[in-house]
Amino acid sequence: MSTAEKPKSGLVLPGGTIGMLGSGQLGRMTTIAAKYMGYRVHVFSPDKDSPAGQVADVEIQGDYADTGALEAFAKQVDVVTLEFENLPVAALETAGRHALVHPGIATLSKTQNRSLEKNFLKQQAIPTCQFQIVRSLQDLKLAQGLLPGILKTTTDGYDGKGQIVIRDPAEIESAWQSIQTSEAILESFVEFDFEFSVVAARNSAGQFAAYPAITNEHKNQILDVSYSPSNLDAGLNDKAIEITRDIMEALDTIGVLCVEFFCCGDKILVNEIAPRPHNSGHLTIEGHVTSQFEQQVRAVCGLPLGATCQKQPVAMANLLGQHLNDGQPHWDRALSMPGVKVHLYGKAKAVADRKMGHLVALAETNAQTRADALTARELIAAGESADAGDRAVRRNVSTIVKQLFL
Ligand code: AMP
Repeated sequence: MSTAEKPKSGLVLPGGTIGMLGSGQLGRMTTIAAKYMGYRVHVFSPDKDSPAGQVADVEIQGDYADTGALEAFAKQVDVVTLEFENLPVAALETAGRHALVHPGIATLSKTQNRSLEKNFLKQQAIPTCQFQIVRSLQDLKLAQGLLPGILKTTTDGYDGKGQIVIRDPAEIESAWQSIQTSEAILESFVEFDFEFSVVAARNSAGQFAAYPAITNEHKNQILDVSYSPSNLDAGLNDKAIEITRDIMEALDTIGVLCVEFFCCGDKILVNEIAPRPHNSGHLTIEGHVTSQFEQQVRAVCGLPLGATCQKQPVAMANLLGQHLNDGQPHWDRALSMPGVKVHLYGKAKAVADRKMGHLVALAETNAQTRADALTARELIAAGESADAGDRAVRRNVSTIVKQLFL
């Protein structure tokens, strides 16, 4: 489509073409939602046969620094969106000369740098942990009053990468040497009760819709399990949604955005912001009226947002490389639990800590969904006894029979 024919109103109706920068699992699930709604999707990333590329109409392999390739990509689509935040801002600027780009540069630039993000939260008077930006060993020594803490790189960090826990001042020097960066942020360690997230969307008309909070459990700083409804009290749930709305309005975000929080007694603190669909929101595919991926499509295409209400309790367990490594995974055992769904991202190689897929469990209570998601994950691992599988299947069948007939 030529630039002259592009929609000026921001409305991209089904039948139009969405461009996606990045081609991982978030792009894959957004593409699947877009295809349901009759859109065409072109993905652009350095990778080939990527999770999103496998399901898109067109997969373009290119470098984010290649202005010519980005321009050619943007000219072919009506709107450009992204599925991860560690993209050069210049790539968005280039794409923006030929197509609408959502979320925009203000959202991306603030959320891809931890130092800018934390300072933004401070300016907005949004509660977050105590922190100090450090650019030298000397700076870090001067900030030792914040210990115990976590030293994080300000850019390119995700899933615990680029993070070092510093328990006491004796560890400062080795921590600074091993982080190997010219700018980092030292955050005071938060003794939280639990973690949760709010996933929300905002469209170009300013309509805002948030999902109820989702409780998150991490292992080795990587999301392990999420479930909804969360165990957050109703007042704090509303407060967290209000904070999320304030963040999206201040950044004029169009699209889906996730705010991760710590809950400490009756206080909530923002941990970080992700300007895209989020791993914790995967459970909205089965658990909610509109999935976060459909919501992303609606928001970036200028359409009204869908309902975010929850249909039934739901839990999600991530499948990392180490959960699949050992021989042939027993997918059949997990799938013999009728309330369990398997999602795989089409990644060829299982590597430790690499997100390969996820499991979703639907049941009557949080305790049950969480237990079923974890049981299904255990059943997938090779060598697990079939008895455990049989027990889990019997329990799950009886839950579903109760839901249907009682
Ligand atoms: P991040 O990549 O910053 O979201 O960190 C990943 C995980 O590390 C978080 O979800 C927490 O479980 C943990 N974490 C990060 N920062 C802190 C902090 N300041 N205090 C306590 N735990 C943290």
